[in-house]
Amino acid sequence: MTFNLKVPEWLEHAQCNSSDEDLSYLFFSNDVNDIVKAKRICAQCPVIGPCLQSALERQEPWGVWGGQLFFDGNILTIKRRRGRPSKKAPLGDVAFPDVPVPEYLREKVEQVTIPAERKAA
Ligand code: SF4
Repeated sequence: MTFNLKVPEWLEHAQCNSSDEDLSYLFFSNDVNDIVKAKRICAQCPVIGPCLQSALERQEPWGVWGGQLFFDGNILTIKRRRGRPSKKAPLGDVAFPDVPVPEYLREKVEQVTIPAERKAA
């Protein structure tokens, strides 16, 4: 069996690949602070469109791709913090920074986005 592991050209321009530091943990973390950092990196990325399109096409199950958080094959716009709420600081839901979706992908993204009222995770 052979696998086609051709790396797309646009990946050369990925913001998440632009530093010497390995930032991949941010993009696959369950920690909301890491997820927010990953989404902010994506917001500055010149290849956010092809990255998001590629994630949608391969039905990416997990991680931050193209500025969106994929969870169990859907896109989440909020996430509940882990752990028990303290009396001083209730944990609550964290709304993520809004990373704009390219116009040509909006309909596809809407189809897999879980609305804030229907919380997951
Ligand atoms: S959009 Fe985000 S995950 Fe995709 S290549 Fe750019 S920085 Fe990396």
